[in-house]
Amino acid sequence: MKHLSKTLVVCALFTASLIGCAVNPVTGKKQMIIDSPEQDIATGTKNYGPSQQSQGGKYTVDQGLTAYVNKVGRKLAAVSAVPNLPYEFVVLNNDVPNAWAMPGGKLAINRGLLVHLEDEAQLAAVLGHEIVHSAARHGASQNTQNILVGAGVALAGVAVATQKSEYAVLAVGALGVGANAWNSKYSRDHETESDKFGIDYMAKAGYDPEGAVELQELFVRMFDKKDSSWIDGLFSSHPASRDRVSANKATIAKYPKGGLRNKEAFDQALAQIRKDKNAYKNYEDSLKAAKDKQYDKALALVDNAIQQQPKENLFWEMKGKILLQQDKYKEAVPAFDKAIAANSSYFRPYIYRGMAYKELGDNNGAERDLMASQRILPTQMATYYLGDISLAKGNRSAAANYYQEAMQGGGEIGEAAKGKLAQLQTP
Ligand SMILES: [Zn+2]
Repeated sequence: MKHLSKTLVVCALFTASLIGCAVNPVTGKKQMIIDSPEQDIATGTKNYGPSQQSQGGKYTVDQGLTAYVNKVGRKLAAVSAVPNLPYEFVVLNNDVPNAWAMPGGKLAINRGLLVHLEDEAQLAAVLGHEIVHSAARHGASQNTQNILVGAGVALAGVAVATQKSEYAVLAVGALGVGANAWNSKYSRDHETESDKFGIDYMAKAGYDPEGAVELQELFVRMFDKKDSSWIDGLFSSHPASRDRVSANKATIAKYPKGGLRNKEAFDQALAQIRKDKNAYKNYEDSLKAAKDKQYDKALALVDNAIQQQPKENLFWEMKGKILLQQDKYKEAVPAFDKAIAANSSYFRPYIYRGMAYKELGDNNGAERDLMASQRILPTQMATYYLGDISLAKGNRSAAANYYQEAMQGGGEIGEAAKGKLAQLQTP
């Protein structure tokens, strides 16, 4: 009540200014929101693609899985308080257990979370919860809060609270993708609201709401196990809690027992990624070996993964990356060719192939690939290399522009760009 009255007071104060008061479509209560619902949709639409790219891109080995997740998601969205948002659901090619929602009905679930679920009711619990974040405009509400506490109204124009990672912030690392927009979290109130109304949508869509309790129990189990991928992922900002289990138990007591489980359909949809579990394990082990500079071991592991699932673009990309590390540029190119053929919509192998071409002295090939990567997701790394290519082609002013731009990103690449720029400007 106290919170509500404060909201009303602040709403009254700001009515004449740019801070708007909106009714939360899910709860019917007033909330302070600067952005209009149309801006929510624009924000989601604009940032959905880049957010996917920076977190592994779409999972493409089994298109049927994405279709299935969409079907379940749409069923839930249809019974939500805002059924007419332009909802989209994607499966991200990412091992980290995570799911997130952006404003305007743009949702994602990682391959790494799906493999831990047991049936459609549990999937509906994840998606129902995320749909509430979008439908109740939690992103826009959080954004407004950030601005009110002094983050600065100037930020209102840029999509600060673009995508709320449910729990994880995946570092893209050396490629220097501007991933700073993913740090913001939803408040505890938002989480409680999403749990509560997510269950309501599950029940309305005919699912067994017990799935929401099981989901929280799974999180607690994983939390107790201290599994590092969960700690880095799901729990980095949202420690699993027994309170959430009890809260969900209390909520589902208000609904009739039982409902859809659709275990068979779920098992069928999950069959491919479950079958490929060992291949992904080999891939992860390959990443670790490469990190320890054991390149031959890493190569053997990733070859193993490829043998089991030759349609996985990440495996081919990894192979190419190891060959790059070993200065085997000529051999690296066909591996990146395969990665791009398997999933041409993912930005990363274009950068690596561009680097290989550059080392092989094929500046045109390098430029073509780096530009292709920039069209999908602009990165500091590609910008920097485009500077090198321009320089090699004798275009000093274009090179200067690229280095200038890469410099803005800071870090190691920023420093390198700064050095190149200084060299360029020395008469
Ligand atoms: Zn949440």
